[in-house]
Amino acid sequence: MNTRLHNLTAATKQRANHIPKIKPPDLEEHFAENTFSIDEMRKRLPREVFQGMVNCITKNSPIATQDAEIVALTMKEWALEHGATHFVHWFQPLTGGTAGKHDSFIDPTNVGKAITSLRGKHLIQGEPDASSFPNGGLRATHQARGYTIWDPSSPSFLVENDNGCYLAIPTCFVSWTGEALDHKTPLLRSIDALDRQARRVLRMLGQTVDRVLTTVGAEQEYFLIDEEYYYRRPDLSNSGRTLLGAPPPKGQQLDDHYFGEIPSRILACMLEIEKELYRLGIPVKTRHNEVAPSQYELAPVFETSGIASDHQQLTMITIKSIARKHGLVALLHEKPFAEVNGSGKHINWSISTDAGDNLLDPGDTPHENLVFLVFCTAVIQAVYQHQDLLRISVSSAGNDHRLGANEAPPAIISIFLGAQLYDLYQNLIKGNELTTVKDTDLFLGVSMLPLVPKHAGDRNRTSPFAFTGNKFEFRAAGSNQSLAFPNVVLNAAVAESLRNFANKLRDSLRGKEKNDPEVLKKTVLELLSKIAKDSESILFEGDNYSDKWHQEAEKRGLLNLRTTVDALQYLDSDKNTSLFSTFNILTSAELKARKEIALEQYEIAIDIEGKTLENIVRTQVIPASFEYLNELTQIAVQSKEIGLDVTASPTIHTAQSVNVHLKELVNAVDELTKQLKIHKKDLMSNAKHRRDHVIAAMVRVRQATDKLEGIIPHDKWPLPSYSEMLFVH
Ligand code: ADP
Ligand code: MG
Repeated sequence: MNTRLHNLTAATKQRANHIPKIKPPDLEEHFAENTFSIDEMRKRLPREVFQGMVNCITKNSPIATQDAEIVALTMKEWALEHGATHFVHWFQPLTGGTAGKHDSFIDPTNVGKAITSLRGKHLIQGEPDASSFPNGGLRATHQARGYTIWDPSSPSFLVENDNGCYLAIPTCFVSWTGEALDHKTPLLRSIDALDRQARRVLRMLGQTVDRVLTTVGAEQEYFLIDEEYYYRRPDLSNSGRTLLGAPPPKGQQLDDHYFGEIPSRILACMLEIEKELYRLGIPVKTRHNEVAPSQYELAPVFETSGIASDHQQLTMITIKSIARKHGLVALLHEKPFAEVNGSGKHINWSISTDAGDNLLDPGDTPHENLVFLVFCTAVIQAVYQHQDLLRISVSSAGNDHRLGANEAPPAIISIFLGAQLYDLYQNLIKGNELTTVKDTDLFLGVSMLPLVPKHAGDRNRTSPFAFTGNKFEFRAAGSNQSLAFPNVVLNAAVAESLRNFANKLRDSLRGKEKNDPEVLKKTVLELLSKIAKDSESILFEGDNYSDKWHQEAEKRGLLNLRTTVDALQYLDSDKNTSLFSTFNILTSAELKARKEIALEQYEIAIDIEGKTLENIVRTQVIPASFEYLNELTQIAVQSKEIGLDVTASPTIHTAQSVNVHLKELVNAVDELTKQLKIHKKDLMSNAKHRRDHVIAAMVRVRQATDKLEGIIPHDKWPLPSYSEMLFVH
């Protein structure tokens, strides 16, 4: 049997052999069982130490050193009971992934035995080598010391393997001099910044709260394909996406995959993924088929943003590892396949008090809801002022394939409010009296069917930043990325708007009767009207995919940063440096380092793609094409020998086509090799060269290969086809 058929048989024979038998009542019991949760702490810690942990988590107060000692001991006991032998300070370096060094709990004694231990100081601080992680020039290679520092707000968890188990302790990762070398440190700093400004604004509006938090729920899109195909595609295994491959006759044209029946093998895998996520205390809630064939989505119930961000990393890790158990590979690249939709991550974001009051909930009468109007306007202003940062926060070589490709929002950042709020803001801007257009019920013309309330605004799936009822949904993030930086940007930008608002309100109320609610309301609305007017050009309710919007956005002066390289130029502008340093989120040096790392990662990603493509073409595609050409030539020679007229024969015709495309391909791949060898003297020029020349050369190579794939016999083509990868489950 030839390899191609062998693959197919193996793939279709794969059956769900891991169907987890989980019954609904077990869910409650198993939820968070693999975490050192608040509940577990309540059971195990002395009362005052437990209270200290609760204060730390909910009120941001530091843990006393002697309490940390007790927490460490208890955490170790809990982990050992669950079979853990090691602990890991788990952190999120600027690669976008996660990392950690494993330390055994075992300490040898001087009588030739061993005891287990986890000291408070080992819980609080670790000391990994910082020089091998991207640091953007913050550390020289010989300056290796770095620290990981326990983040008590995020629960420690167990990572299980058939052969053992370890305890992972979420941490921040900083250099010896305290500079952030990770995604978590600035995220925690930005949460604090927003908390301070939001509480100040609320106080001025007459509300005192202990803490204001940001909440996040991220919808995660991903592909699942059979692992047989994955390992036969060096492009997928090296770069996460197919660098060549002719489009299949059937793609997503029929719109039959979205929300469709989930194939049973896939469902089995999803059930196991979800079970593991529940055990980690990750509240996954929804699952469905996405638009592209073999594409799926899952979404959790929202959590506070620090934990949501850690949980999102764990979700990606879990999806990938459980898929393997089912003979599948999860692709989290933003664009694994050309011609069908790529994968994104929608970041649902809101602001809430620690008592759970959502400050972005408009209620039934938003025009009377001053708190909502203040916070909503702050978000509008923040997005307007920092369009560049939001765009940068979702930029990557992978996401460049999506943004603006009519499947994802364009690279132009704008806000969709929905009819009800849009009208309200128009009136606010014009200084008109505010009212709320009432929601109506929907009657379907069948008396038996229940009346359902119609939402105050329709959905607009083309908008990058949409108000969706009681939260904003930032839809431009890539499927593979950490939630941290987009959240840092949102928190910082909104903190700035709130601070400016509080300062202006303080000044405007000077000399006025500020305890009179009418005076306060009038003053607030006047300020909001001006802010909304100044930021108005960021509001857009129409079709973000249309050419008309691109022209309109340009007229409005909105930024359209098409590629990662265009966007990154703005990262360390004076405006952005001042934003992050004012709120102590990132110093100028930390920000510059991030720019360097992002440019470097872009360059590396494109270089890996280029070299992989070059290799596949030279070692697989060209030899297969020669083989077929040789076969055709022999037929032609033999045909001539037996006296057939071969001058206009199909054999010669086909051989000529192969020859023409081969020539194109060889030229294109030579050009790619040449472009890949060019290295400029600085990171920005290198990145630009990749964007303008290496990618262009890769496109030409792909055009020629995809034509050859249409002529070379199926059993000679060395790579699994799009149809096989996308439709064989
Ligand atoms: P849709 O497909 O309509 O966007 P989903 O149910 O797939 O809806 O996802 C909505 C996401 O928004 C969920 O993760 C949900 O928990 C999250 N979400 C809901 N309310 C809030 C909120 N107040 N803050 C942050 N996220 C929220
Ligand atoms: Mg959504």
